[in-house]
Amino acid sequence: MKRFRLTDNFYLDEFVCPGIYSQYGSRSVYFLDARIVTGMQFIREQIGKPIHINNWWDGGPLDERGLREFKTKTGAKFSQHKFGRAVDSNIVGTSVKDYFEFVMSHEKYLIENQLITTIENISFTKTWLHCDCRYTGLDHILIVNP
Ligand SMILES: [Zn+2]
Repeated sequence: MKRFRLTDNFYLDEFVCPGIYSQYGSRSVYFLDARIVTGMQFIREQIGKPIHINNWWDGGPLDERGLREFKTKTGAKFSQHKFGRAVDSNIVGTSVKDYFEFVMSHEKYLIENQLITTIENISFTKTWLHCDCRYTGLDHILIVNP
């Protein structure tokens, strides 16, 4: 398998589970929503630190933090992850609370461009931040309980 660069700071495999990646390779990108990819790259540039999503490419255990297969038992039946609109991530050395607050400090831009519309309540996601670009019709970022 070949690795494909998606943006300045992310590879495609960081956004896709191995089951889909092994089957579709570079065409896995067709299942991703460009807004969440653009949103994550925007946050990466603003915060200036590496954002960790999947690490299965390098042999790590994280493989369902972006696009997931419909058959997975992870998460909700109609999880935004299954539509390529969601990313779970963290920043080494930064608390989830600080990461959440940083994303929220860019709420206006993120909502105007519909890059990140929804974040899961961090009291439920202690070790990662879930962001997605689902349509909400709201003028602010929606905080949901997973
Ligand atoms: Zn998630």
